[in-house]
Amino acid sequence: MRTVDLRSDTVTMPTEEMRQAMFRAEVGDDVYREDPTVMALEELGAAMMGKEAGLFLTSGTMGNQVAAMAHTKKSDEIICEMESHIYYYEVAGLACLAGAQVRPVIGDRGVMTAAAIRGAIRPIDIHAPETALICVENTHNRAGGTCYPLGELAAIRRLADEFHIPVHMDGARIFNAAVAQGVAVAEIAQHADTVQFCLSKGLAAPVGSLLVGTRPYIEKARRFRKMLGGGMRQAGIVAAAGIVALKTMVDRLAEDHTNARLLGEAIAASGYVIDMSTVQTNIVIFSTDGLKTDAPAFVAMLKDRGIKANAFGERRVRMVTHFGVDRADIDYTVDVLAKLKQECS
Ligand SMILES: *Cc1c(COP(=O)(O)O)cnc(C)c1O
Repeated sequence: MRTVDLRSDTVTMPTEEMRQAMFRAEVGDDVYREDPTVMALEELGAAMMGKEAGLFLTSGTMGNQVAAMAHTKKSDEIICEMESHIYYYEVAGLACLAGAQVRPVIGDRGVMTAAAIRGAIRPIDIHAPETALICVENTHNRAGGTCYPLGELAAIRRLADEFHIPVHMDGARIFNAAVAQGVAVAEIAQHADTVQFCLSKGLAAPVGSLLVGTRPYIEKARRFRKMLGGGMRQAGIVAAAGIVALKTMVDRLAEDHTNARLLGEAIAASGYVIDMSTVQTNIVIFSTDGLKTDAPAFVAMLKDRGIKANAFGERRVRMVTHFGVDRADIDYTVDVLAKLKQECS
């Protein structure tokens, strides 16, 4: 039986070129700033995003948390989308690490409008925390990989400048947004002061994320990374794969988007409830509404047929396309889903 792993793009395996680069990587102690491969990765990532400096971190979660720690102080407030990763999936890190509280804003398919953010900014008042950071997630994971329209990001930038509030972009999948929108990634990143992006998802590196921003900000963030135990030593071994990821794995994300669209369209054609307007990149979320099974039971049935997916709550199923999934895998999945629709109706 074929196995197709659509749980996440984090399951991607490093390429042969990455393994070779890791094997040969020149390394040093990065806490002493003596690892040339880590430094090269940080410079490359910053240059691609149009920022001054970069910081290599163990994960996207560490990147987001360090970013918030460096932007805020205890008792500040952070504006985030209600279902954003930094709020929903990071173990209350903003409360525990930054000591900040979150002001959640409900987005439209994950996208907060500038107008909605304006309504959430606190006035200067003895009763109120200070709004110290606006966090946008692009692409938005729980909304189904949706992209921020560039016009909305520009409006958020203008608003942030008006109130002197920094913008952090959780760009775990910012390259998916850039490829889907047909723009250079720096064109998206220009609207944020800082960006966190993952090397270990669609770009298929084994480990790591980068945080980019101004040089003084990144030096501040570097101290917080150390505080969290993220000062890695001969980290060039893993950074080497990140360099290959940035140089060779960005353009092929278009393939993942094509596969996701094919999958989504077939799911709709089979009669499942799906909002195709959210299928913009490599994530497909559909509903088990109208079936006799809930999402966890449906996911178990898929697993029996060799297809791994994630239940998103009781009624939603998420599938993510990536480097390890080809067209034949999609065809097989489409076939199984069509049969399951009959069985479960
Ligand atoms: C995966 C993800 C993260 C966290 O990355 P990890 O490397 O898994 O910690 C942050 N934000 C978003 C939107 C993500 O999808």
